[in-house]
Amino acid sequence: MRIFLAEDEAAISGFLKEGLEEEGFAVDVVGNGRLGLEMALANINEYDLYLLDWMLPGISGIEICRNIRKTNKTVPIIFLTAKDTVDDTVFALETGANDFLKKPFAFEELLARIKVLLRNKTGDQSIFVTENIILNTAAHQVTKNGKPVELTQKEFALLEYLLRNKGNVCRRTRIIEKIWDIHFDKDTSVIDVFINSLRKKLDDTGAESFIQTLRGVGYRVNNKA
Ligand code: CA
Repeated sequence: MRIFLAEDEAAISGFLKEGLEEEGFAVDVVGNGRLGLEMALANINEYDLYLLDWMLPGISGIEICRNIRKTNKTVPIIFLTAKDTVDDTVFALETGANDFLKKPFAFEELLARIKVLLRNKTGDQSIFVTENIILNTAAHQVTKNGKPVELTQKEFALLEYLLRNKGNVCRRTRIIEKIWDIHFDKDTSVIDVFINSLRKKLDDTGAESFIQTLRGVGYRVNNKA
């Protein structure tokens, strides 16, 4: 899952980026409204959720929100702002935001609200099953044959992406776009490292891997389960 964050206070954006990355999200941060608008629209189908500060240098978060809604009516948008009157909240929601968080807020609350919006977006489909592996996004847990398997955040995010797209080819460039942020150098060979470690942790010894390699293209988990 990839999140777009427009926030001009570096202390806040740094803190949020770090916290969200620990939760397995890829996060692109921009501190300027004009650049924010440009980035938000250029990658409109890449982001799973937008976090927008209201007051930004150049163009406001409200303006970015309006423009996102012109092309995408459903992607979740949350406002983060020091504005706190009822009028402000109503205005933000009417502009197209799904939620509104007043600064200062607790990271746990933001995270909970993000999870609710993403759950709604993905049709509450939080459990994925393949072979004898179960991935539960709500519990953030993976089990194999009923036993928990320890995965790193990136491994979990990669497995979730493959399972969400079960039966379909997951192209290497799409995987990078979804799991790594914009500053990543696009060297897609890093994916192989994570695929290998998923295989090591989840494949049956000696059996064919549940993740199929499509040479030069990407990976696929087949629809067996
Ligand atoms: Ca601001």
